[in-house]
Amino acid sequence: KFKALVVDKHNEETKMEIKELGMDDLSEGEVTIKVAYSSVNYKDGMVAVKGAIAETFPIIPGIDLAGIVMSSEDDRFKEGDEVIATSYHIGTRHSGGFSEVARIPSEWVVPLPDGMSLKESMELGTAGFTAALCVQRLEENGLEPGPGKVLVDGASGGVGSLAINMLADRGYSVVASTGRTEEAEYLKSLGADTVIHRDEVTDEDGKSTRKRQWKAAVDPVGGKTLQYILSSLDYGGSVATCGLAGGIEVETTVLPFISRAINWLGIDSVNYPMEHRLKVWDRLADDLKPSALETHIAYEATLEELPDTLNDILKGDVRGRVIVKF
Ligand code: NAP
Repeated sequence: KFKALVVDKHNEETKMEIKELGMDDLSEGEVTIKVAYSSVNYKDGMVAVKGAIAETFPIIPGIDLAGIVMSSEDDRFKEGDEVIATSYHIGTRHSGGFSEVARIPSEWVVPLPDGMSLKESMELGTAGFTAALCVQRLEENGLEPGPGKVLVDGASGGVGSLAINMLADRGYSVVASTGRTEEAEYLKSLGADTVIHRDEVTDEDGKSTRKRQWKAAVDPVGGKTLQYILSSLDYGGSVATCGLAGGIEVETTVLPFISRAINWLGIDSVNYPMEHRLKVWDRLADDLKPSALETHIAYEATLEELPDTLNDILKGDVRGRVIVKF
């Protein structure tokens, strides 16, 4: 028997409850893991509070988990191995990390890289992995340190905070945009040079192009913020689109593309191929490991505290990352 947070949805009503479960309640998979840490992402709030995104109910949410292998039917893993499991259908179609025990298909399991603890892997979690994908993709498209500014919006959130820290560590001059300017000190402690209010980078007038301001941007917000970014990137600049916290609709024109040669880069962590995924986790233990990883952590939650945290993250009230300790 073990404890887990279970989300169920009947008609339009979604309910969270901590339950005692048995092994038969878990989804199918080759690797059974004693979960040491999990973490809270925006997507978990969508599943647990809104009953959105998840494809089956009841479900144990939690798109991130790290722990120790209890048993494995796949020779690549053995009892006692330290592992990470994130993405794919975890926490949306397959029982996830908000549980003392998880059972995961072996092709979704990542060996903990050298130079990273289980706790650090969840301080990063999907938010850190996604921030790393953004930085990597921007650099593959020509971003390099030197003159010019990189904008990170949704700055006090998980992806935003980690992206600021990674970019600042790599020598970029980072402008952080936030709805919570009272978090300016926190954002500067992660390495932001300048903190601005999100209203300054929200498109209100529908202009296709405006003053060139950024050589690149990391955008977990989308919507009118992304509209503003597309219209204000510098010549040859790139934006990594990774989220929708501010909306999914984006109105633009071809003008910034054909007159400024900008790049609109899509970022997906969920189905990112395993072969490349392992390399990104290795980089997260090495050159992309954020220097202020501990600073990102708002608090360590228990299973019992999770329902409140999940409500807060949807309201945009969580600063940085919350990890869950078992
Ligand atoms: P988070 O911690 O909740 O951060 C989101 C941040 O966005 C908030 O902290 C807030 O920052 C800002 N925000 C919230 N509501 C807003 C609004 N209405 N208008 C403008 N800004 C708003 O969430 P997260 O886990 O970092 O995830 C961020 C986004 O990335 C989510 O949409 C998530 O689904 C997406 N995501 C995508 C992938 C992928 O594979 N593509 C992976 C991970 C996450 P401030 O208070 O600082 O303004």
